[in-house]
Amino acid sequence: MANLASLVGQQKIFLMIGTAFGSFMLGVIMPASPPVNEELKLPAPQLTPVGKKEKQNLLNVKPAIEHRIKGFNTKAAQIQAQHEKRFNFSVPARFEGAITYEIKLNSKQKVVALTFDDGPWPDTLQILNILKQNKIKATFFWIGRHLQIYPEIGKKVVAEGHAIGNHTWNHQYHQVDRFIAAREIEDTASLIYKITGVKTAMFRPPGGILDNGLAAYAQAQKMVVAMWSTDTLESYSPSPQEIINTVLSNAQSGAVVLMHDGGGNHSNTLKALPQIIAELKKQGYKFVTLPELLEMQDKELVAQAKSTNSRAEKP
Ligand SMILES: [Zn+2]
Repeated sequence: MANLASLVGQQKIFLMIGTAFGSFMLGVIMPASPPVNEELKLPAPQLTPVGKKEKQNLLNVKPAIEHRIKGFNTKAAQIQAQHEKRFNFSVPARFEGAITYEIKLNSKQKVVALTFDDGPWPDTLQILNILKQNKIKATFFWIGRHLQIYPEIGKKVVAEGHAIGNHTWNHQYHQVDRFIAAREIEDTASLIYKITGVKTAMFRPPGGILDNGLAAYAQAQKMVVAMWSTDTLESYSPSPQEIINTVLSNAQSGAVVLMHDGGGNHSNTLKALPQIIAELKKQGYKFVTLPELLEMQDKELVAQAKSTNSRAEKP
């Protein structure tokens, strides 16, 4: 037992010596306080002081950005309006359910609207070329079943910025009930929208017939029944010169000219059209679409009503 006690005592001594030596060596190896903090004492960054001019420039940035945002919004609104104008042929409220012929303008501005019925049709492409060469826009009244056959021609008409109206699906002349009228007009409207994205509030009754149920249906849908003031009478096969004479002898401010691009032979119309345009231009006429013409008359009537009211209010 004595041996065991001395053995434990010896171990204690060794342990104490070991611990002391370990602590000493640790102190040698590791510095008392790490020099890291010392090394991180970097000089303060030298910022260039902002001068008066720079301060002013910084202040100017805000209104400049605001101006750019405003400009961007204005541009976006303009694009939206152009898009609306190209794909939505609505009519001013006073024309909803109305029947129009020529669109009289008090200002006597020399404007005329060329309209083409019964397309889309292969001949439409030649009409488009003539209109494009002359940088003018026209209005096309489409037959649903023709658009179904020539959807690509329909797309081209819209892409080139012309106005579109509804001319029924089957070009019906005979009396129709409300159900048939709805199918004739609504099916055509749906296909126009499906193929071109266009919505139109303009309806032209086939043959100009106003009492067979179709026009009445269109009026009930608040569409304008868009007739014409000059008929080129193509169904009687007039010569190109006769077509030219008919249009020119009836030329007047707000005239709406009826021609055809679909459903037959239009070679004489194609021959007459460049001359009609050239002569009317020479006489100072500008070419507008039918919705543009309706809008022009609407603006005049609004201005007229305002001036009448202000006169009435004066003592
Ligand atoms: Zn027709």
